[in-house]
Amino acid sequence: MNVVCPQCQQPLRFAEGHFHCDACERDYAQQALCPDCNQSLQVLKACGATDYFCPNGHGLISKKRVVFVPLP
Ligand SMILES: [Zn+2]
Ligand SMILES: [Zn+2]
Repeated sequence: MNVVCPQCQQPLRFAEGHFHCDACERDYAQQALCPDCNQSLQVLKACGATDYFCPNGHGLISKKRVVFVPLP
């Protein structure tokens, strides 16, 4: 998936915990979406691990399958 900046449409760099746009030097928070229903996931943090849970019946989503989008 190619994530682009909401401001300038340049590709965003995936930094730790957020997206960074090199072109506008902005940071964007990451929103985790369910790959099955495109709804936002609940983020469950426990003991250094982060789990993603879909409240719409898809259960726990593996981090590899989570779709991250920038929050404008
Ligand atoms: Zn930008
Ligand atoms: Zn879902």
